[in-house]
Order: sequence, then structure tokens, then C-alpha cells
Amino acid sequence: MKKGGLKILGLALLIIFASVCMVACSTAPKTETQNTAGTYNRTEIITSSTEAKQLLIDGNKRFTENKLLNDDISDTRLKGLSTNGQHPFAVIVSCSDSRVPPEVIFDQGLGDIFVIRDAGNVIDPVVLGSVEYGAEHLHAPLIAVLGHEGCGAVKATVDGGETPGSIGAIVEKIKPSMEKAKSTGATSTALYEKTADENIKAAIAAIEKSHIIKELLDEKKVKIIGAKYHLETGEVVFSE
Ligand SMILES: [Zn+2]
Repeated sequence: MKKGGLKILGLALLIIFASVCMVACSTAPKTETQNTAGTYNRTEIITSSTEAKQLLIDGNKRFTENKLLNDDISDTRLKGLSTNGQHPFAVIVSCSDSRVPPEVIFDQGLGDIFVIRDAGNVIDPVVLGSVEYGAEHLHAPLIAVLGHEGCGAVKATVDGGETPGSIGAIVEKIKPSMEKAKSTGATSTALYEKTADENIKAAIAAIEKSHIIKELLDEKKVKIIGAKYHLETGEVVFSE
């Protein structure tokens, strides 16, 4: 009787142990073998702006279709990036808006895109220096200026009013684009969006003024494009 009781207790403990193991295994940290959706792992160095743009288009398509690939965050990948350095295929200047993170909306992983963000995606010397670094030093063949619908920095500029602290510096950068937009007769929401579009063009023009970028453009080593993110659909529309 005593022996039988011990047997039952042993069996019960075995079942509990097996259940705990199953739960632990199913919640274990993500490893390379568990990536069922496929892993995004770009190893080759991209030197063509056309190819780079296509990677952004493809990534945004995966994003809008909710088919994001798992980023390769394996030890091998991290070690490779540490040893071999970074070779991003695009420099992206985008707004800081929390709804528009370039790595997410283009479904890109570690080492893929060189991102510079500020409210309103405006260009100042620090931003321009970062763009130059990405294009000239890291040899990214594509520069994309990414604006978006419903931009708060654009709205603040168009609506006017007080701009405390250093926010005024952003508004001053966007004002010329607002004046251009106004000259087209645009009003209300259309004025916001037209200003955002002009602001993307203004950023491209500011980047083109850099003599480093100008040289790279002349040598056809880099291309600059504009892009706009649509909040409701998640789609990025490129200017060309
Ligand atoms: Zn914005």
C-alpha cells in the first residue's frame, strides 16, 4: 500500500515536471530555429540605388501586408556586424513621429538602414553631416527623405502660435514650405499636406547643397528620393 502510494506520487511529479518543461520550452527566447515566419538576413553589400529603393518598397509591402520577417538577431549576426562593420544600403531622414519608425515600416533589420530623425524631418548642419557620413563614409547608395501625413511639426507651423524653447527652430525651417504651399491656394488639411510635401522637397534641396553629396551625385554614386508615409494604410509613396 505504501509502495503503491509512492508510485502514484512519483507519476504525479513526473507529469508536473513534463508540464513545466513544455511551458518553459514554448516561452523560451527566440532562436534561429524558431523563426517560422522567415528571417530577414541581407548579407550582401548593396551598391545600386535602384536595388536599394526596391528593398525599401519590398519591406514596406511586407509591413502593409502584416508579413514582417523576423530580424536576424542571432549571435552569429551580431558578431558579423561587430567584426565586419556596417554597410547600410540607405540613409533615411525621417520625422521623429512615433508612428513612423523607418526600421519598422520598411521591415529592415540590424545594419540595414542609417537613420536620422528629427521632428519635421528638417535639415540642419548636424543632420546634413550625418547624411554625408552615411553616403560618403558608409557608401549607402540611396538617400531618402521620409515625410508623413498628419505631421505635428508641419501643423504647428501652419497653425502658428507660440513655439516655446527650441521648437521655434523647427517651425522656422518649415515656414518657407508653408509659404510655397499657401501660394497654390491650398487651405485646411490640404494646406498641411501640401506643406509636408514641400518640406520633403526643401530637405532634398538642402541635402543637394552639400558639396560632398553633390560630388557623389555627379559620380552617380548616390541618389536622393522623397517619400511620404500614409498613417492609415501604412503605405510609403515614393516621389519618383
Ligand atoms: Zn512629423
